[in-house]
Amino acid sequence: METIILATNNKGKVKELKDILNGYEILSLKESGIEIEVIEDKDTFEGNAIKKASEISKLTGKICIADDSGLCIDALNGFPGVKTARFLGEDATQDQRNNYIIEKMKGIKKENRTAQSVTCIALVQPDGKQKTFTGILKGYISEARRGQNGFGYDDIFETEEGITLAEMDQEEKNKISNRRKALDKLLNELGGSL
Ligand code: IMP
Repeated sequence: METIILATNNKGKVKELKDILNGYEILSLKESGIEIEVIEDKDTFEGNAIKKASEISKLTGKICIADDSGLCIDALNGFPGVKTARFLGEDATQDQRNNYIIEKMKGIKKENRTAQSVTCIALVQPDGKQKTFTGILKGYISEARRGQNGFGYDDIFETEEGITLAEMDQEEKNKISNRRKALDKLLNELGGSL
């Protein structure tokens, strides 16, 4: 079985991608001994995912998967979108970003709190062939941060069922998440084998 490199340094993503792709030989950047931060300067999730996967595939000569994800809030015209990790600057913490969104959405009624959690996965092969797969989970921005599990904006993203992704355990999140949907498309397209 060919080794697949995950072009990410995000521990939360590595865990989820490995859990969902169990059965494949997957190595994170750290496990591949690669220390690199690819600059995410494209204005689409697809553009950033392809950029990350291509750079690492060129570097390693191996099949590479990259994941670019983010939160798109309808009442804020899709903000923060591709800037989900950086909209308060490079030095801000995840706590600060989540608190900022809760504050910004204060007073907005439930029906206008709709949002999408988006993941685009790019698969790049050593010969340069590339494909992207996008998964979208629809939900709401919660009124307060809730839950201790997960990572990123999980504690402010409420599903249609009214619980946040951070209130689910990892297994439940992996069944319904945007990342899961993107990976299902990837596996489906490739007939279950990479
Ligand atoms: P990027 O895809 O690495 O650019 O991540 C964008 C931002 O989204 C970062 O702040 C991540 O922590 C966050 N993020 C990525 N995936 C998820 C997720 O599954 N749940 C919550 N936050 C996420």
